[in-house]
Amino acid sequence: MSTAPLMTDEPTSSPRPAALDHEVVIIGSGFSGIGAAVALQEMGIQDFVILERESQLGGTWVQNDYPGLTVDMPFFIYSFPFEMKPDWSQVYPTGAEMKEYTLRCAEKHDLPRRVRCEATVVKSEYDADANVWRTQLEGGEVLVSRYLVSATGLLVIPKMPDIKGIDDFEGKLIHTARWDYDTDLTDKRVAVIGTGATAIQLIPAIADQVKQLDIYQRTAIWLLPKLNPQLSSGWKRALGTAPFLQTLARWLTNLFVEVVLGMGFIHYRRFPWIFDRIEKKLVDYIRHEVHDPETQEKLIPHYSFFCKRPSFSNVFYSSFNRPHVELVTEPIERVTANAIVAADGTQREIDALVCATGYNVFNRKCMPGYEVIGRNGKNLGEFWQKNRFQAYEGATVPGFPNFFLFMGPYSAAGASYFTMIDTQSKHMTRCLSEARKRGANCIEVKQAAHDHDFAKVQRLRQTTVAFGGNCAGSNSYYFDEHGDTPGLRPVTGFQHWLRSRSFPLQSYDFERRGDA
Ligand code: NAP
Repeated sequence: MSTAPLMTDEPTSSPRPAALDHEVVIIGSGFSGIGAAVALQEMGIQDFVILERESQLGGTWVQNDYPGLTVDMPFFIYSFPFEMKPDWSQVYPTGAEMKEYTLRCAEKHDLPRRVRCEATVVKSEYDADANVWRTQLEGGEVLVSRYLVSATGLLVIPKMPDIKGIDDFEGKLIHTARWDYDTDLTDKRVAVIGTGATAIQLIPAIADQVKQLDIYQRTAIWLLPKLNPQLSSGWKRALGTAPFLQTLARWLTNLFVEVVLGMGFIHYRRFPWIFDRIEKKLVDYIRHEVHDPETQEKLIPHYSFFCKRPSFSNVFYSSFNRPHVELVTEPIERVTANAIVAADGTQREIDALVCATGYNVFNRKCMPGYEVIGRNGKNLGEFWQKNRFQAYEGATVPGFPNFFLFMGPYSAAGASYFTMIDTQSKHMTRCLSEARKRGANCIEVKQAAHDHDFAKVQRLRQTTVAFGGNCAGSNSYYFDEHGDTPGLRPVTGFQHWLRSRSFPLQSYDFERRGDA
């Protein structure tokens, strides 16, 4: 049991039984963990701890940093609706600003003292007799809680490419998720593997500094121009004195995204022309920006828009107009001590190799990133691996009472990650409030409700571009090993928002169990 001080100075929803360390354990202190904590506080639950593997709280925007890092969503949808900030430097904030914002949100809600850093969860197990979760940390300590919230994010565990010889490379090897600012790339020969959302930000940021830049592209990305004006002091003042302007911008952006993605992505089969037109415009954009016709052709994706996550940049394409930047589309055959050898035998010598190769997404390594054992020894990771990713409304799974997921399978709909945080917070607090009302302490989704929801997402997804468009060859992390797209709930953000406020509470069993 934990020796951590119990937080008894705050009111809790109910007196904590002596056997509990905390009423709620939240795993992960990124935006999801912060959002979950704020939602708990709002309903009067103060007795929680947030466990964070890293040495600092904050998740993605605190851990991730690389040259050129900016948010690729406008701030008015990529921020908490309850924590609007009027003085961003530009519409798409820099990574440094987003880090500062994360930490400020945590401070404002008095979370730093509730976060335990360097607390890596190895396993969490439900004890049905006591109706508690026992969460085991690296080092052996066990924390006992009534409720468990998994807020471990989606893009967390970097994926290194599985390329022959890469471990024998003698130059500097970097994954963008672990950027090493002590490394000076000035006048170096650098190779970047990948052309995803990270690479398209990094490449223009380092292109001027390096002597040679080889970009290894396996699959081209759909890229939209980025309207990113600086925020003048007048605008900052206006947003500060009239916050409704930011709310209005949030609603209008959400509305625009809902209409375009709602019709274009979710109802692709009915409105294929929307994405067709977007694709044509984006191909024109490539041809306009890139001088060399051969490079233009290589940069044009050959799959439907949004089969793979698109991104935004005004400067990526023009990077290829510089004489020392080369786009290589020949597959990589192997890496040697000082070079990359392509399949056509061409060898390009390099001093540094940057892997902008993304993350493990919806696989056993990260979903969940620790062992979760429910009733009767049911192992969540094994269950998902055998039966495909599934969770009722993206939030709960039968056999795992009192366990709530953020960014669970089919939890994300709408314009931004913050929509998901809002919907999943609401789902959780509705369940907890209902339990409180009924004097219950054990909440479990019914199998029938869960199965019905899983069948529904499978039915609805048939109209999406993912299943109706041409996604072959997109190599998209939207698709898992089963061919499912658990990162995308095939409904609009508004529908999911509404549902999180109106799903039938009869979908759950509420009981009173254990010692309290
Ligand atoms: P990613 O989208 O998964 O892209 C990884 C890239 O590496 C792809 O081009 C991939 O090619 C390539 N790659 C991987 N393994 C390879 C191999 N063995 N050989 C050759 N190429 C290989 O990863 P990411 O760019 O880090 O972006 C991940 C997500 O992070 C984004 O979708 C976005 O959600 C988020 N992100 C957000 C921001 C922001 O500002 N908000 C910024 C950066 C990233 P294939 O496409 O062929 O697999």
